Amino acid sequence: MEGGKLIIFSAPSGSGKTTIVRYLLNQPELNLAFSVSATSRPRRGKEVNGEHYYFMTVSEFKKHIKNEDFLEWEEVYRDNFYGTLKTEVERLWAQGKNVIFDIDVVGGLRIKNKYPEETLAVFVKPPSVDELKIRLKKRSTESDNKINMRIAKASVELATAPQFDKIIKNYDLDTALKEAHQLVADFVGVSVGSKED
Ligand code: 5GP
Repeated sequence: MEGGKLIIFSAPSGSGKTTIVRYLLNQPELNLAFSVSATSRPRRGKEVNGEHYYFMTVSEFKKHIKNEDFLEWEEVYRDNFYGTLKTEVERLWAQGKNVIFDIDVVGGLRIKNKYPEETLAVFVKPPSVDELKIRLKKRSTESDNKINMRIAKASVELATAPQFDKIIKNYDLDTALKEAHQLVADFVGVSVGSKED
């Protein structure tokens, strides 16, 4: 596979990485396209198949694993598989785009290891685990049990931060957005547009 750059944003669930990724996708000079992951987790709220995820059953997902269709995949939570299909990155590179990923820390580091030169791996750090809990509860899209699962995983994920190229502290969203914008602009070799806000 060859093409543009790969930009990875990884972080514990609730750190604000999805907000950052969405903001970056709206900056035309970065020429980004979102890598839609495959997942076996149930659809949440207003999520759209093919836009937020490619939703599939566990057995469909396992078939793709067997066929070696994934660039990386991970059982992020029990029976909740997530993965990046090779065809997804090929499709976006064929459009001349830089590809941006919102994926878990293990998957992010895997892609970084496969494409060290082409990849910028960014870790988004939340203020604290307590703050994460508050954010996840506010989102209220999941049961307490699921939220606790995500919190338990967060501490393990936080320990991987030093393995990333850059760490962004998301203590203040505006500051984090500006920092992320500058980082990605530098990496893809463009200057930050004057209409960034
Ligand atoms: P959520 O269920 O909240 O959408 O995502 C749960 C976690 O799975 C998040 O940390 C998200 O970044 C991660 N994730 C989403 N897509 C992928 C993927 O393709 N591969 C990996 N390894 N993780 C993913």
